[in-house]
Amino acid sequence: MGELNATERGTIERAVAEPMLDQVLSWSAVNSGSRNLPGLERMAAILADSFSTLPGELELIDGAPVETVDSGGHTSALEHGQNLRLTVRPDAAVQLLFTGHMDTVFALDHAFQQTRWLEGAVLNGPGVADMKGGLAVMLAALKAIEPSEGARDIGYEVVINSDEEVGSLGSAPLLAEAARGKRAALTYEPSALPDGTLAGARPGSGNYSFVVHGRSAHAGRNPEDGRNALLAAADLAIRLDSLKRDGLTVNPARIEGGSPSNVVPEMAVLRVNLRPRTPEIQAEAKRQLAEAVAAVASSRDVSIDIHGGFGRPPKPMTPEIERLFGLVKQAGEDLGQQIAWKPTGGVCDGNNIAACGVPVVDTMGVRGGKIHSMEEFLITESLGERAALSALTILRIAGGRL
Ligand SMILES: [Zn+2]
Repeated sequence: MGELNATERGTIERAVAEPMLDQVLSWSAVNSGSRNLPGLERMAAILADSFSTLPGELELIDGAPVETVDSGGHTSALEHGQNLRLTVRPDAAVQLLFTGHMDTVFALDHAFQQTRWLEGAVLNGPGVADMKGGLAVMLAALKAIEPSEGARDIGYEVVINSDEEVGSLGSAPLLAEAARGKRAALTYEPSALPDGTLAGARPGSGNYSFVVHGRSAHAGRNPEDGRNALLAAADLAIRLDSLKRDGLTVNPARIEGGSPSNVVPEMAVLRVNLRPRTPEIQAEAKRQLAEAVAAVASSRDVSIDIHGGFGRPPKPMTPEIERLFGLVKQAGEDLGQQIAWKPTGGVCDGNNIAACGVPVVDTMGVRGGKIHSMEEFLITESLGERAALSALTILRIAGGRL
């Protein structure tokens, strides 16, 4: 180990000794797919119990209302689970934010429900890396901080949401509120690579549903009276595709709707994903998208409703974020861990936190890989490593090194 003082050494020892592996095994036995509301309720209760060993006020909060558009173009409310929020010493000088998610991508009827050991202390299981392992790491670091000298000066909020894997639409307002006034944030997604490399810059991501209404007519008798919604959706898809450029990907993914072949189709729904690299590109894409919709609506005499938006704003590397990464890297070096970072195409709650102007490292969780697949794995020795890394990082942010 490198340069560690007595307080740091004591805190790290406590963090490493926490029962993280037991927690991962029991937490990953509970299915908490983003749409499994009873499972999420159970998971939230278990986490509330575990996190109530920390001081402060713990609440389970309903998500904000979210609407979804079905293939018939109708909107309806989309239910999400509750989100956990813990507030500790809100009057302390240094305020930090810690976030994670309790949901996984594996639904209740998915084949992947159980953990099993692979060679070399590697655990295969649903959510072991993404991110029940990360939640255990977060809790271990926070528990270890409590008896430390200086803990009184550290206040923080923990937010564990239940809809991260489906875009955090219901929890985004809570995350933004919790981020306000925080000096820094740590999010416990697994490392970008199994060697512990962190994710640096991330693009933004927007999901849109365009509901096109035209006018039906008989395909043979009076087609000129019809306004073909399917063609309008296809026209819009092609126009949006042409917005692609360096720093912006556009993926028209699906068109639903249409009609029997002897009817001019009255309705179609177009689904598109866009990923801008910077906030400026996002703002421009949003403007161009509205222009394309207006152009198609007027040239084809149809109405088009726009649903959705950029739920994940871009997270470019800023000097403030670089400073936080530098601090984590130094903490790693003093623990004998090599910490690097690289840009990634994926998005997470770190995007939303960075958009609030709060520097964030969003891959403080475990080392592992193959997430979102049945081969998902956790390198269990990383539980201790990452808990030590987090604890040291928190102590040093609080000590004024940021
Ligand atoms: Zn995740």
